[in-house]
Amino acid sequence: MRPYTLVNVGYRSTNFYVIGSGRTRLLVDLGWMGMLGAMRTELQRKGIGLTEITHGFATHYHLDHAGLAQELKASGMLLIITPEQLSAAPVMKQWAKPQDNYVDVVLDDAQTRVVELSASRAFLAGLGIDGELIHTPGHSDDSISLLLDDGCVFTGDLTHPALVEEKDVEVVTRSWKTLRDKGATTIYPGHGPVRPIGT
Ligand SMILES: [Zn+2]
Repeated sequence: MRPYTLVNVGYRSTNFYVIGSGRTRLLVDLGWMGMLGAMRTELQRKGIGLTEITHGFATHYHLDHAGLAQELKASGMLLIITPEQLSAAPVMKQWAKPQDNYVDVVLDDAQTRVVELSASRAFLAGLGIDGELIHTPGHSDDSISLLLDDGCVFTGDLTHPALVEEKDVEVVTRSWKTLRDKGATTIYPGHGPVRPIGT
């Protein structure tokens, strides 16, 4: 696997990760709605300029994970979205109150690229990142994990096996099994610390 850098620029109990390879800066999860200033500050604290973010991907379209998608695009980020997520993104705005200052995400502009899961490995390789996008429903139907070839996996809010509700057990268990079968070893969740898979 090609080397990469990994920086957590999270705030407000949510993790946002920057994966760096060459000139690529891929942001995994796209900030809290209305808090671009906090995102810029956290990036700066880690020595990354907002406009250095070349690509961005949301594990799922909830307002604490994809809330700055449109504003980050305006700063030059190319939004990577999978077909599984296309219907979820426009729904986000219905959860935002006017005082949240949420900017609705637009999907038909030049700063958006729809990437099929089956094409994700090749797409990421073009960015210098060895890994793939995997559908891992359970927390939401549009939940997608980014699994790197070294076993690190960015799972967003995929429910911890110990916290899953009865009605979701089957789908959540299947998603974790999919990740393990594909070689996942270390979980980088949307909230909380990094942990080994299976704990
Ligand atoms: Zn969520």
